[in-house]
Amino acid sequence: MGNYRQHITFASFLGGFYSAGAFFFLGVHWFYGTVATLLTTLSGLLPDLDSSSGVELKGFTGILGVLAALAVWDSVGKADPRPQFEVHLWAVVISYVLVRHGLRRVLSRLSKHRGISHSLPTCAVWGLLTYLYYPSKYHGLRVLMGVAVAIGFFSHLLLDEICSVDLRGARVNKAFGTAIKLWAPSPWTTLMMYALLSYLTWMTIQRWPTDPTQFDLPALDVPIQKYAEEILQKLKSVAKP
Ligand SMILES: [Zn+2]
Repeated sequence: MGNYRQHITFASFLGGFYSAGAFFFLGVHWFYGTVATLLTTLSGLLPDLDSSSGVELKGFTGILGVLAALAVWDSVGKADPRPQFEVHLWAVVISYVLVRHGLRRVLSRLSKHRGISHSLPTCAVWGLLTYLYYPSKYHGLRVLMGVAVAIGFFSHLLLDEICSVDLRGARVNKAFGTAIKLWAPSPWTTLMMYALLSYLTWMTIQRWPTDPTQFDLPALDVPIQKYAEEILQKLKSVAKP
């Protein structure tokens, strides 16, 4: 069983390789690569969302809580008429607490460790979800990120499996074969996961473009030097009396 740190390290390593490969062979801008690496790294923790005591679970629901709060802040701010500040504030706080603590409870109740979350169909589901919902209209970018998530997820299963084999050879411990698998002990969860996978596959086929030029990535301009100079200018103007 790989631990939290091993999973992060292994996944980020693979993510870096993936992004470098995309950069050298496909000409994908390095800045997209940094996001792909980040997604791969985080996805290396996804399968352990089912362990109720996991540091992963705490970290993840924390990140999700912040994201949910930001999303609520944004959408409440766009409402018309605009609600007063106090309503706005409570909406944000409540959504954070609900996601952070509520979701963690639900997840830890629902799931059994090394159940369906450690399986190949779940890996595919996360990849497809990323492809479908990554906030970009560019097909190529969504494919890049979907694959990044799938790689991170798979790296976790692989590491769990490797760690369950005694490296000196002969002995194979009890956890062997519980990470990379096609089904869960429970037939119902397995069935539900495959139903979800079929649905997402169908959605993906619907969205997949017929025109190959749609694989092109949007041009990206990250003028880091310009940003740095601007910040420096500001700092100088502040420093001057
Ligand atoms: Zn695991």
